[in-house]
Amino acid sequence: MLRRSILFLSRQPKLAAFVRDNRLAKRFASRFVAGETIEDAVRAVRELNAQGITATMDLLGESVTSAEEAAAVADEYVRLLDRMQTERLQGNVSVKLTAMGQDIAEAVCLTNIGTVLQRARSHDSFVRLDMESSEYTEKTLQLFRDKLFPEFPGQVGIVLQSYLYRTAADVEEAIATHCRVRLCKGAYREPPAVAYPRKADVDASYVRCMERLLRDGTYPGIATHDEKILAHARAFVEREGIARDRFEFQMLYGVRRDLQQQLVRDGYRVRVYVPYGTQWYPYLMRRLAERPANVMFILGNLVRETIGKRR
Ligand SMILES: Cc1cc2nc3c(=O)[nH]c(=O)nc-3n(C[C@H](O)[C@H](O)[C@H](O)COP(=O)(O)OP(=O)(O)OC[C@H]3O[C@@H](n4cnc5c(N)ncnc54)[C@H](O)[C@@H]3O)c2cc1C
Repeated sequence: MLRRSILFLSRQPKLAAFVRDNRLAKRFASRFVAGETIEDAVRAVRELNAQGITATMDLLGESVTSAEEAAAVADEYVRLLDRMQTERLQGNVSVKLTAMGQDIAEAVCLTNIGTVLQRARSHDSFVRLDMESSEYTEKTLQLFRDKLFPEFPGQVGIVLQSYLYRTAADVEEAIATHCRVRLCKGAYREPPAVAYPRKADVDASYVRCMERLLRDGTYPGIATHDEKILAHARAFVEREGIARDRFEFQMLYGVRRDLQQQLVRDGYRVRVYVPYGTQWYPYLMRRLAERPANVMFILGNLVRETIGKRR
């Protein structure tokens, strides 16, 4: 119930404007977001690299409403890829197709993502297409399958979400076409017509898809902070004799740093998703929805600040 309410609020633009200017919300966001500028993101990635962790950098922002805005986002990604190259950072980028103009016109989106992919190719880098809500799943996978992957096979990969019923079939298709998949549970509010309503089913689906990808997939990204699933993955690769350079674990910036470091110490590859930029409101709300205890953390701070002011 709380998760659904938070995800509903994540789509309210007026609240977004209010929260973005709120000091406390900004402070809380800094736990999950590297900062507002490219410099902030580069600093965060340098720190991760020093700990043996690679990164995927995400310029925050979702659907854009004009072709100019979409082109500006693509330009920022190009600058980001150049910067990663000159600084020799260990990382790649994650991109949302709606930020490339998917809601404006397919041609606009293709031009922009094409620009980013060409630059990624010239730097021998990689672009992950983040997956958004289910209204975009088919469109995104179709564009990937028909246009992007055939032209940039080494540069582009997808994300599949275990909460969707369709994902088991999408995993099989990805295995057959040898494309790279990041597997996550899914962060959006979805109807029972398309997604498992019960968490236990989402988790079970995750484990099934993960085993398929670990055994037969192409360098899958196992994106989760779920300790039980991580333990399952470790036992599975051990038992199946799957080498540690055939997959990687992925986690979000600021979430379970203890687990991130433990995995590195144990000799696994770990990549952290590093978001930055001014448009952090919907991202922050999805992180809150994943862990209602985060809401209590904010409320606790609010109460402490209010009491502090009275004193
Ligand atoms: C690298 C990466 C990329 C992602 N990309 C996408 C994407 O493209 N599309 C998409 O829909 N979703 C994406 N997600 C989000 C994902 O779908 C889940 O919503 C999110 O990872 C939480 O699920 P979980 O697997 O960690 O398991 P959960 O069962 O939700 O959480 C397991 C445990 O992890 C910890 N945890 C999880 N989330 C938080 C949090 N926000 N704050 C503090 N602790 C937390 C808690 O200890 C919790 O008990 C991505 C996640 C990762 C790690």
